[in-house]
Amino acid sequence: MILPDNLISIQQRIAAACARAGRDVNSVTLLAVSKSHPPETIRASVECGQIYFGENKIQEAKAKIPLCPGNARWQFIGHLQSNKVRDAVELFEMIQGVDSLAIAQEISKRAAQAGKTMPILIEVNVAGEASKFGYAPEKLLAELNELNALPKIEIHGLMAIPPFTPLPEKARPYFKKLRELKVECEKILGAPLPHLSMGMSGDFEVAIEEGATIVRVGTALFGERLSSVRRAPE
Ligand SMILES: *Cc1c(COP(=O)(O)O)cnc(C)c1O
Repeated sequence: MILPDNLISIQQRIAAACARAGRDVNSVTLLAVSKSHPPETIRASVECGQIYFGENKIQEAKAKIPLCPGNARWQFIGHLQSNKVRDAVELFEMIQGVDSLAIAQEISKRAAQAGKTMPILIEVNVAGEASKFGYAPEKLLAELNELNALPKIEIHGLMAIPPFTPLPEKARPYFKKLRELKVECEKILGAPLPHLSMGMSGDFEVAIEEGATIVRVGTALFGERLSSVRRAPE
């Protein structure tokens, strides 16, 4: 079967990258990006031992998660709209991709109403791309204390989606930049931030060499997403 083979191969590649970097293999979490894939795929993955799943659309997650095994654990990845925050707080155990003070405030407010504290990762626009979401590094450093003061969020680290490149080495400087920014954030906060979420199907090994603790892998695990190859009717 394709799925167990892909999963084993990715786990081996994660282990090899950890070995090259002198890191413990348990310091890296594989987040299986299951967007566009049906509950049966999640079920098969859970049966192979995969625990963590990432989704980037609230509507899809809301329909899908109740149909999936109860021991699957869910993280939201990407940009979140404020009218979706209430659902996100309910559905996910971590929100990766907080990119403004306003959205962080909304998460804190909704988490308070739900009686919980929400772990978040802050998204950084590491290459300054006009088309991408995420904090500019300087803005994050300026707003960090204000973010951290919100009562019902817990900042667990940073995430980034560097520019796509077919050459993984080209992403290395961006991964390094995110790692260095995390150190600056830790100095401001006076506390360690455990997570760096970086690296996708094409470049997760380089990301691990640069310190990733969460790699977000979709295509290499599940194959091409239908939604990304299907064209809208003319
Ligand atoms: C879709 C997605 C991924 C996975 O990308 P692949 O190239 O399929 O591994 C990772 N992170 C985010 C934020 C995504 O939206």
